[in-house]
Amino acid sequence: MAKIVHGEIGDKKIHCLMCGGDVFREREVKLNSSGMEFFNLAWANESANGLICCSCGYVHLFVPGRLKIYRAQG
Ligand SMILES: [Zn+2]
Repeated sequence: MAKIVHGEIGDKKIHCLMCGGDVFREREVKLNSSGMEFFNLAWANESANGLICCSCGYVHLFVPGRLKIYRAQG
């Protein structure tokens, strides 16, 4: 079951780019899954943190490092 989270970069809270919502589902996204290889990027073998907006479903992708995730409930 996906975690319901808020996100921050530095001291800036993450809001959905599409709808402005601040509640997300978090899941790890593999960047080397089939279909991604044509991007041929240096970080293609890493995984990213995916934040999926609970309101509209827009997916925000972050390479791990600066993203901080806070559990929103539970
Ligand atoms: Zn949204």
